Amino acid sequence: MTVRVRALLQEALRLFSEAPPSDAQLQEWTMRLHAALEQEMPSDEETRKLLKDVLGTIYVREVERGGVAKRVPDVLRYTIDRVAPELRAELDRRIFAAADLIRLNKAERVGQTLKRFSGWLSSIPPGGTAETDLRSVASEILKPTAQVKFEARRVAIDQGHKLSAAVAHVVARGEGAIAAIWHDRGEHDRGYDARPEHLKRSGKLFLVRDSWATKDGLVRPGGPYTDDFEQPAEFPMCSCWWEWQTQPGALPETLLTAKGREWVKGAA
Ligand SMILES: [Zn+2]
Repeated sequence: MTVRVRALLQEALRLFSEAPPSDAQLQEWTMRLHAALEQEMPSDEETRKLLKDVLGTIYVREVERGGVAKRVPDVLRYTIDRVAPELRAELDRRIFAAADLIRLNKAERVGQTLKRFSGWLSSIPPGGTAETDLRSVASEILKPTAQVKFEARRVAIDQGHKLSAAVAHVVARGEGAIAAIWHDRGEHDRGYDARPEHLKRSGKLFLVRDSWATKDGLVRPGGPYTDDFEQPAEFPMCSCWWEWQTQPGALPETLLTAKGREWVKGAA
């Protein structure tokens, strides 16, 4: 939090530490602090810019530069171009959702700070407060709003994971994915705070329900399926991802029917 808000807050605390404010004074100072906080917080315009930077970079990497091929191996450029409008819409949807989350969070944090402020002033006894460390009081009051920028960046990063997952899903569907292998970053990155259930799932293969290979009778029915549980990046700060498979030949033989095994031999 910048010097301006802090100075204003400390001025109010000093002023009223000797004698509590009247209702009118409390209202006036709350409004002043509110205005100062609003000026300090990232504006909706700045938030949109942050999101366009972070999510736009991911979009360029995954879609325009074809980075999605890491998640959908052997994907054709043609497939990516064909589903591009849907991918664009996904980018816009993510920017919109993230901007909304950040705006709501900001309003909540400002509300919490103002509540702490009026709470502290209202608790001053008629003769003044014995509290002398007003700097610490100010820090305590400003704690919720001090987090806002950090939280906005966190939302942007989280929405980036969700965007990458959604792009890969749309492309995989366009390419006719029949199965996928779950990957948890925690497998290689010990610093990553992995969810135990996700780590346990890592490296395992799941079938896509009602895929063309199932309908053609190449794959055994019964799963397990990719939609049996939450999707990668669905939970907060989850950076797990699917490695999508499009060819029956990529599946273990135990998942194939007799017809499927014949099909794989024929395709080889
Ligand atoms: Zn995860």
